[in-house]
Amino acid sequence: MSPVPRILVLGAGFAGLELATTLSSELADAVEVTVIDKGDAFVFGYSKLDVLFGRAPLEQVKLPYAAFSKPGVRFLKEEILAIDPVGRRVETDNGSHEADHLVIALGADYDLDATPGLADGDNEFYSVAGAVRMARKLPAFTSGRAVIGVCGTPFKCPPAPSECALLLHDHLTALGVRGDCDIEFVIPFATPVPPSPDTSVALIDAFAERGIAFRPGRRPVALDVAKRVVTLDDGAELAYDIFFGVPKHRAPDVAIESGLAEDGYIPVASQTLRTRFPNVYACGDVATVGVPKAGVFAEGAARTIARELIAELRGEPPPAAYEGKGSCYIEFGAGRVGRVDVDFLSAPRPTGTYLPPSRELVAEKERFGSSRRARWFGR
Ligand SMILES: Cc1cc2nc3c(=O)[nH]c(=O)nc-3n(C[C@H](O)[C@H](O)[C@H](O)COP(=O)(O)OP(=O)(O)OC[C@H]3O[C@@H](n4cnc5c(N)ncnc54)[C@H](O)[C@@H]3O)c2cc1C
Repeated sequence: MSPVPRILVLGAGFAGLELATTLSSELADAVEVTVIDKGDAFVFGYSKLDVLFGRAPLEQVKLPYAAFSKPGVRFLKEEILAIDPVGRRVETDNGSHEADHLVIALGADYDLDATPGLADGDNEFYSVAGAVRMARKLPAFTSGRAVIGVCGTPFKCPPAPSECALLLHDHLTALGVRGDCDIEFVIPFATPVPPSPDTSVALIDAFAERGIAFRPGRRPVALDVAKRVVTLDDGAELAYDIFFGVPKHRAPDVAIESGLAEDGYIPVASQTLRTRFPNVYACGDVATVGVPKAGVFAEGAARTIARELIAELRGEPPPAAYEGKGSCYIEFGAGRVGRVDVDFLSAPRPTGTYLPPSRELVAEKERFGSSRRARWFGR
């Protein structure tokens, strides 16, 4: 070990930002924290829907890493090319870095090729670039059928495709063309948000009220963009005029090639977020933790890792285990926001408590974003 413990955080998303911020506020210069990310700005997942539906321009929702400045933390804009979990060493496009404690928080990438045709044109809204491209395409859609299709599980933020369907209804209504358009939502789950039956019922009711066709238990497997037909996993074909795809997810190649991944993601002990390699942790969307792929769970897991590292470095007993609890806000359209509180790890089965849409929850969702903007970026 070097005189000052070196903690290397791979990825500056929800997990990496929260981990580095907590370590800085508790330990400041007693540790050397290095955060590496290939990007130049953070964007909240839900901001992609704002960009898609023209509610905010991209520049407004970007949070540049240049403003991420914390005592004891340095940020490096580099692309990670290889991870050695045994030596706790990473290679980047700008050199190599070694650590005493390594935390992998690289999120999930999209596997567009897993759904032939999905990459042929602008058919996904789950990446920032995809949301920008679909926002440009959206005004031309004024009649015909829109299909929102989830091409694989697990996927980030389970309520997000339902939100897309409801916000699309609002968008088309505001344009005065809703009567000329059909909206169809295809998802491999049996219900929109399986851990919370009440949330699922509320969403299914909202689809019915708005004339949105809900096709559960089905997965798009291929797109023919010339014919504008999507094939589902039961062989059914569905004609579309615009396709809002949620691509199949996968861990980034560098995580898979590190030897850490099993079944596509990095397995960890849910209570501690430790991998099988000493002093190597993983959390957030890149890991299999037993919780959904959502920012609120990524940051909760990161806080647990921070508490473990702080306790270890101070010689204190280990902290409480990661609880796997989180709240997700759900846009119901018409300026209304609901919430589902989910608990994945403390009971034998996941449970979810649904709070119906209200003005208070609109304000609460805004506070969710503004508190993180202030905590991580000082704005
Ligand atoms: C449409 C949509 C709506 C959503 N809404 C919500 C919501 O309301 N609430 C919620 O909690 N979550 C929501 N999410 C999910 C949320 O955005 C993700 O679950 C969350 O960002 C995961 O955090 P993370 O830290 O694990 O990964 P990320 O935030 O994805 O961060 C990973 C980082 O690693 C970096 N990286 C990857 N590979 C490399 C490499 N080789 N070299 C260097 N850097 C690399 C990336 O640049 C990225 O910055 C939504 C997602 C989408 C798509």
